Amino acid sequence: MLFDKVLIANRGEIALRILRACKELGIKTVAVYSQADKDLMHVKLADESVCIGPHPSKDSYLNVPAIVSAMEITDSVAVHPGYGFLAENADFAEQVQNSGFTFIGPDADTIRLMGDKVCAIEAMKKAGVPTVPGSDGALPENDPEFCLATAERIGYPIIIKAASGGGGRGMRVVHDAESLISSIDITRSEAQAAFGDGTVYMEKFLQNPRHVEVQVLSDGQGNAIHLFDRDCSLQRRHQKVLEEAPAPQLDEKARQDVFDACVKACVEINYRGAGTFEFLYEEGHYYFIEMNTRIQVEHPVTEMITGVDLIKEQIRVCAGEKLSLKQSDIKCFGHAFECRINAEDPVTFMPSPGLINTYHPPGGLGVRVDSHIYSGYKVPPYYDSMIAKVVTHARDREAALIRMRIALDELVIDGIKTNIPLQNDLVRDEPFGKGGVNIHYLEKKLGLS
Ligand code: ADP
Repeated sequence: MLFDKVLIANRGEIALRILRACKELGIKTVAVYSQADKDLMHVKLADESVCIGPHPSKDSYLNVPAIVSAMEITDSVAVHPGYGFLAENADFAEQVQNSGFTFIGPDADTIRLMGDKVCAIEAMKKAGVPTVPGSDGALPENDPEFCLATAERIGYPIIIKAASGGGGRGMRVVHDAESLISSIDITRSEAQAAFGDGTVYMEKFLQNPRHVEVQVLSDGQGNAIHLFDRDCSLQRRHQKVLEEAPAPQLDEKARQDVFDACVKACVEINYRGAGTFEFLYEEGHYYFIEMNTRIQVEHPVTEMITGVDLIKEQIRVCAGEKLSLKQSDIKCFGHAFECRINAEDPVTFMPSPGLINTYHPPGGLGVRVDSHIYSGYKVPPYYDSMIAKVVTHARDREAALIRMRIALDELVIDGIKTNIPLQNDLVRDEPFGKGGVNIHYLEKKLGLS
């Protein structure tokens, strides 16, 4: 039996995306929103809505007691966390479970396992997923000889990473033995302060990798599939800007091996839900860096090339259904791109909230826009600046890129500044057009590094 009623513990475009999936499945929906968000599109469309607090996220979208209370008063049976906010918060998942509700995602224990990168890497290695050469576990405290010898064995440059790090924080690159021990100490104390956990580990620092990730679906009952890969190498300050599926120009044998290993890992860790294995890819080799235990911003490009509704499948398996899709059902057709549209100054990247006077989305065959904005909507200054995702799909990469150029030309968002000029530039960029640029490409192009 699918859920009767699902509470959507998120905002913006993803809340609307989840609402649409629930409606298609015949599931009733509850929107929760902060005082600054009463005008959100999905709040208007949900069967019920509950204000859960003032605008600071900690008082509303991260306010666990308020969200669990909203589930109780609305008789919701499950909660979809979307991405960000509480999506990878194991304590929240546990509290939801302990309150007798279903968390639409993996078990709290699985979230915890993957949230500790040292444990996650260990589990992946066991399942045969290729990892970055590194310290094989946490670095011991007060053992400089061991740390120096480990770095020597791996070879400089190396990167020191916090086991509990996230969002590109808690990392430090070290180029030589002289600065190794002090860098470890600094990263450790920063990690302790930021994440309440001073555990750090060491990895080889890959100099020019691409970011390639593998989408999976798994039912926690022994069935798992992959849905090909995405390339998300165009990043600024570790934030993805433009993504595509499938990832172009990879070593095909290594690619298939990685798909197989990801599926095997899902079965081994008894994974339930939608998930993403993130890799760095350099010179034909894959290196696992982390697993995201949630639906991701860029999931639409995978949906476009496979025709699978990832959120509907995620809801189904988390309701206890067996995966209805077999690997042989999953075919890759054509190519898809996603441009993230942010309310920000295209030159300074400063957020640009405010009133949208006119909004005109692009359309036509193979064009999809996931967005909650509308003419007259006021973008609040308190949250992430992403306001829309423009996705195009066509029979090959070049055609999908041409379609994106046209879609971006059609898109009108008046009243606030957006990064549309940057996206326009990127979809006409020659090296990007050829495919396979690395994770430093965008910052270099912008003159930032
Ligand atoms: P977070 O959880 O903070 O996103 P990740 O482990 O996913 O941390 O790493 C974030 C980014 O840091 C990667 O996308 C990559 O750009 C860089 N990075 C991480 N590990 C390495 C490495 N071993 N070599 C080179 N770059 C790395």
